[in-house]
Amino acid sequence: MPEIQRRSSVSVKIGSVVVGSDAPIVVQSMTNTDTADVETTVQQIASLSRAGSELVRVTVNNDAAAKAVPYIVDAIRAKGWETPIVGDFHYNGHQLLKKYPATAQALAKYRINPGNCSIGRKDDDNFRTMVEVAVEHQKPVRIGVNWGSLDQALLTKMMDENSKSAQPAPARDVMMEAMVVSALDNAAAAERYGLRRDQIILSAKVSGVRDLIDVYTELASRCDYALHLGLTEAGMGMKGIVASTAGLAPLLLAGIGDTIRVSLTPTPGGDRSEEVRCAQQVLQSLGIRSFMPQVTSCPGCGRTTSTYFQELAERIQAYLVEQMPEWKKQYAGIEELKLAVMGCVVNGPGESKHANIGISLPGTFEEPKAPVYVDGQLFTTLKGDRIVEEFQSILDDYVEKRYGLAADR
Ligand code: SF4
Repeated sequence: MPEIQRRSSVSVKIGSVVVGSDAPIVVQSMTNTDTADVETTVQQIASLSRAGSELVRVTVNNDAAAKAVPYIVDAIRAKGWETPIVGDFHYNGHQLLKKYPATAQALAKYRINPGNCSIGRKDDDNFRTMVEVAVEHQKPVRIGVNWGSLDQALLTKMMDENSKSAQPAPARDVMMEAMVVSALDNAAAAERYGLRRDQIILSAKVSGVRDLIDVYTELASRCDYALHLGLTEAGMGMKGIVASTAGLAPLLLAGIGDTIRVSLTPTPGGDRSEEVRCAQQVLQSLGIRSFMPQVTSCPGCGRTTSTYFQELAERIQAYLVEQMPEWKKQYAGIEELKLAVMGCVVNGPGESKHANIGISLPGTFEEPKAPVYVDGQLFTTLKGDRIVEEFQSILDDYVEKRYGLAADR
């Protein structure tokens, strides 16, 4: 596969994690608990970390939340997680960061939204104050522009200038340009106030896929800062997953984006870690990073009139999810494993041979036997009622032999 040339040339250290340049693209997430509720927030951070979130952001929106942060960080470390905790600041970040130095110190990074720092002010004192706290504690910041809270003074000025030009650009283009200008101007200001380039990450999030691609393409062409990438307010379920993937994929393949978040709206009481698994799957599907063994399975058709192969694919997938926490510790490289579960002879043997282990189940009217291929060779043929168990046992043996040895080398 051709190598992707990353566009950022600065790498930023955030606690134990490095973002940017040649560092692996980092998966991050954000809690949706009340940060002031230490116990619940710690539980969610642990769960996001367990799912593979390499950075976790918490909102710091009031005194109670700010006071809770050092306790949250201590508790998460006591549980054995090194996940850097990032503080998300908006209107009162300058006050909270000054008032609670222990919070400023405990956080690994501050997210600053320049559109919400200085509403109604003619100066950027609030932004400057936050940057100065970051400099004092030697913390990186993310300057996170969002079109839902874009600096209105800047936007109005640019819209006015556009309307007076001989050939005014469409309002949408001016808005995209304002996002880029806001990110770059504030990054330049942060450097003037004392931050180094390797302490700055930029983002310019929008909720439209084409807008996202355009704004990040432009931003990456005008700077080499590390970029945080994500479709903001992606939505629920399939819509959110597909829209995020459609927006992230072309950018990541163009080398744009050093850390990603998939901003899914969870169902009430749903699993917040879904956004982490989704971000991992985007990176793995693009061949950028591997997190989890992959199961290739066909959609089925008129040649598979029973649901047997769907059930097998589902059970194998569930088995992998169940085993991975332990397998990851025992078997180096296990996340590269490829399986195939196929419904009939048409593509079954071919696809199975491309996988590390593949099984081609009998379609309707085929002889009731299921050839299993290991590393491209016919390994055995399964029959009868225990195909699932026997296939699982072949899988376990393969994992032990291949990755157990790899770990020993
Ligand atoms: S492999 Fe067989 S069952 Fe699966 S989609 Fe193709 S033809 Fe249909």
